[in-house]
Amino acid sequence: MIRLEQLCKTYHLGGESVHALDHFDLQIQAGDYLSVMGPSGSGKSTLLNMLGLLDTPDSGCYWLEKQEMTALSEEQRAAIRNQRIGFVFQAYHLIERLTARENIELPLVITGTAPAQRRPLVDELMQRLGLARHAEHLPHQLSGGQRQRVAIARAVIRKPALLLADEPTGNLDSHSGAEVIELLEELNDEGITLLMVTHDPNMGERARRQLWLQDGKLISEKRGEQNAQR
Ligand code: ADP
Ligand code: MG
Repeated sequence: MIRLEQLCKTYHLGGESVHALDHFDLQIQAGDYLSVMGPSGSGKSTLLNMLGLLDTPDSGCYWLEKQEMTALSEEQRAAIRNQRIGFVFQAYHLIERLTARENIELPLVITGTAPAQRRPLVDELMQRLGLARHAEHLPHQLSGGQRQRVAIARAVIRKPALLLADEPTGNLDSHSGAEVIELLEELNDEGITLLMVTHDPNMGERARRQLWLQDGKLISEKRGEQNAQR
């Protein structure tokens, strides 16, 4: 489903060059579950941003579903990002003046889905994610765990093929964090390809493939026991 070949991204800051991704190779099968670990600054977020088409590499190739991404225009990339990729961030990135329902609905509004079609999709997803009671709440009226569930719902409302999560439990207590991971794993069980950055080795070990990054390179990969914790 995904192939990265010799992907490079270098940042220049005050005369210094940082190789955030250094000739990075990776292949991912559809439906797989990967965790990405490594010290702060090792390139984990850069990798996710490249996969999520939020950033462009300096060189190298990125095939997503047999299509080469680096050759596309920004407009084409945006279309693929909207249709095929969901993103979940540590800090939720919800729109504060919109209710939970409106936040989840937003990707459908943007792509012009009619209100009558949006409503049942949003209702069903909120029900599934235990958010039905919070539909009319604003983000500040929700707990961290609830906010992250709203963010996950927003990320998957258009049924993307790929779900990218950058430290999705980083702001959560261990109980809410575990609930969020279980929810992501449920979505993976249903077929979505899941890539999750985490600082927490206990969470990272749950993935089928565990990648370790350092200085923009893949330094090791471990394969977990499939569904060991589930
Ligand atoms: P991680 O997520 O593993 O902590 P990042 O991918 O965020 O690491 O960053 C990798 C390296 O690239 C770090 O040294 C970071 O400082 C640098 N970097 C990331 N984004 C930028 C940017 N926009 N401008 C300059 N340097 C950056
Ligand atoms: Mg990061």
